Amino acid sequence: MKLLFQFQKNLINKADFDKGGKKAFFNLARKKFSLIVLLFIFCQKSDHYAVKHAGALRDIMHKGDLSGKIQLDSLQNKAHLYGLGALENLKGEILMINSDPIISTVQESSLRIENSYKYNAALLVYAQVRKWKKLKIPGNIQHAQEMESFILEMARNQKLDVKRPFPFMITGTIKEGKWHVIDWKEGDTEHTPEKHKTSGLRGTVQNQGVRVLGFYSDKHQGIFTHHSSSVHMHMITDEGSITAHLDEFVIGDNKLWLPAVD
Ligand SMILES: [Zn+2]
Repeated sequence: MKLLFQFQKNLINKADFDKGGKKAFFNLARKKFSLIVLLFIFCQKSDHYAVKHAGALRDIMHKGDLSGKIQLDSLQNKAHLYGLGALENLKGEILMINSDPIISTVQESSLRIENSYKYNAALLVYAQVRKWKKLKIPGNIQHAQEMESFILEMARNQKLDVKRPFPFMITGTIKEGKWHVIDWKEGDTEHTPEKHKTSGLRGTVQNQGVRVLGFYSDKHQGIFTHHSSSVHMHMITDEGSITAHLDEFVIGDNKLWLPAVD
């Protein structure tokens, strides 16, 4: 009888322990799962529009370092990738729109546009942007300088952290835009912004539908923006025949795209 009582007591204790143990285990699992979910959301959020770059304009301009700093195919698996830059040896321009790489080179005095990851970049600035917010650009904003201030103002309004760089896009019609595609002469060691503009092909677009991708930063002059500017912009015409660095523009009816912050 005593033995039976002891056995029942043990059984009850064991059942209690099992119940408690299971509960503790599930509580711990739930906490760990929540932590993983939170970490996942945090990583996704912190990565959203985080701007990265490889190479620096001042190394190109002052040291004549035109070597490849990043292989484009190392970014092939990144979703929602937006980027711009110059090919190694300054033999063309790079534009990446939603993980689609668009390479523009000069071949026998005309532009050659190619969708390929098989290139290296001497300079590349890029970010993954999961979601964009589109804003109307008022009619009084027309020139690049006015646009720069407007972009900053809108980024502040949209609660972007303007202390760090951010990407933007402009879509719509460009009234007039001056573009160039670099084609640096091998062995030329004298680098000036003017020579960079004129070494390859250049031209203008007028009243044309375009998509412009740019990066804004007031802390990366000489790195991925030129000394006199807080933006670096490349463009592609809607019909896709011109992809180039955008030097100057007067815009028409356009939209500004900024990373959406939820
Ligand atoms: Zn450029």
